[in-house]
Amino acid sequence: MAFVIAAPCTDVMDQSCMVVCPVACIHGDTEKDRKLYIDPEECIDCGACAPACPVEAIYSEYDVPGRWVQYLDIDALWFRKPDAARAKVAALKDGA
Ligand code: SF4
Ligand code: SF4
Repeated sequence: MAFVIAAPCTDVMDQSCMVVCPVACIHGDTEKDRKLYIDPEECIDCGACAPACPVEAIYSEYDVPGRWVQYLDIDALWFRKPDAARAKVAALKDGA
């Protein structure tokens, strides 16, 4: 199990979650990314990040709201193929 970051983070990315994560598993490139990504291999499911997010973007993968199910795999994808993840985020946000 892991936590994932859904749509509300896009173009907000204030990094509040990074500050509270005890294992530093939340990543992103401020030059290239429009949201942050949780590493599912490193996340210990502590849940500390979710209440720290000002826009309620973070969920356990089992509790992601239905309208954002397409975000379930994007965080993991970013760690393998960051550009593919960025393209998905842009498409979902902008309808591109
Ligand atoms: S659930 Fe805990 S370990 Fe996982 S990303 Fe959030 S703060 Fe980090
Ligand atoms: S706290 Fe929320 S909006 Fe801010 S970077 Fe983390 S997930 Fe994105």
